[in-house]
Amino acid sequence: MIKKEDLLEILMNCNRCGVCQEVCPTYQVSNNEANVARGRNRIIRLVLEKKLDLDHAPEIEKLINECLLCKACEVNCPSGVPTPEIIAAVRAYYTKTKGLPLAKKIMYRGVFSKNRNVDLVRFLGRIYQKTGISRLVKLTGLMNGTDEMLPELPRKNVRRQLPHILKTLSNPRHKAAYFLGCSVNNFFSGIGLATIKVLQENNVQVVVPEVRCCGAPHHSAGDIEEYLKLAKFNLKELSSLDVETIVFDCSTCASMIKEYENLFKDDPEYKFLAESVGAKVQDICSYLVNIGYKKEMGAVPARVTYHDPCHGVRFLKVKDAPREILKSIPELELVEMKEADMCCGGAGSYGIFNPKLSRDILARKMKHYQDTGATILATSCPACIMQLAFGLKTNGLKGLVKHPVELLAQAYEAPRKNKS
Ligand code: SF4
Ligand code: SF4
Repeated sequence: MIKKEDLLEILMNCNRCGVCQEVCPTYQVSNNEANVARGRNRIIRLVLEKKLDLDHAPEIEKLINECLLCKACEVNCPSGVPTPEIIAAVRAYYTKTKGLPLAKKIMYRGVFSKNRNVDLVRFLGRIYQKTGISRLVKLTGLMNGTDEMLPELPRKNVRRQLPHILKTLSNPRHKAAYFLGCSVNNFFSGIGLATIKVLQENNVQVVVPEVRCCGAPHHSAGDIEEYLKLAKFNLKELSSLDVETIVFDCSTCASMIKEYENLFKDDPEYKFLAESVGAKVQDICSYLVNIGYKKEMGAVPARVTYHDPCHGVRFLKVKDAPREILKSIPELELVEMKEADMCCGGAGSYGIFNPKLSRDILARKMKHYQDTGATILATSCPACIMQLAFGLKTNGLKGLVKHPVELLAQAYEAPRKNKS
């Protein structure tokens, strides 16, 4: 986390060239100079120079919260200005001085921090979806379509199914831990089951540690105290494992665990743990490519396009591996969409707290998807999957949103054609 005393010097590096305008999703849909890295940085600089008052200007807080932390500005900035880190530091200031807003406190500390509460939300959400309650609530207009963002919730989370699906392999080629994040575990169990299936199919002995939330929602809301607590718990758990690799099917979780290195860089007790765990982090697609995954599989006839999650392409630098896997599936045609690496507007719970901007950014993504003529939109992050599926629904578009491992698992299950 950037320290306050270093902030002004870092901000001085912004030469106001405006390159960030081209790549910033919030600027692209709002055309508002205050809604791009250059504008946000200028506002923070004016605050530090005491020309603006951060504590009595709700419009500044709104602009700070409207940043997606997508890193597109940073990776394209000729001066290397780390705008998302600057924004994160300001959010941490707000949370430290004013506390978390109630809705975020309930959602992040009350739900995501506690695995059993995420499971409870899954359970209650399923009752809501499967009974007439959802139809009644829709009639009241109370949810304003927010409930539409939830996928169809599974009957059981992945963790409860582990005793039936985890195998002890007789002669494994590799051993890896699988980080089962809260979203995949409770909301997208199909991805978790596919990940385990694909790993086992490739003769990887899988262990699934008892981790907690990676802390992404807390970090993005500036709740550093809670983020630190979760990070310490996860580091102790992950560093106790006898594995060379920790595999992730969620780009956000993987990025956050890697980010622990930065979080603990001045902490003598946790620095070493964060570095040794960080070195083992691998995105599932990269891992499969690295171990030379099995290419014998059946066909999945479909036209597919791939959306790069921000945490995949810019934080983890994963671009080719998911595409390589998709292209290797027989009869699957991969087509590129325009702006594949531009944020979809999902950014965790961004769509709940910034619905207008989120939906405008999503509509742009949907247009590019539609232009490809694809019927499957693939991506490697559950937050993007939720947002993109919501986009298909609200824009009346046909298609499915899938993780590449789900398509690979489907190909492994599909009948193989005899070569003659
Ligand atoms: S690209 Fe970087 S240097 Fe240029 S205006 Fe944006 S933040 Fe400033
Ligand atoms: S992190 Fe993303 S949304 Fe925020 S200023 Fe940079 S490009 Fe724009």
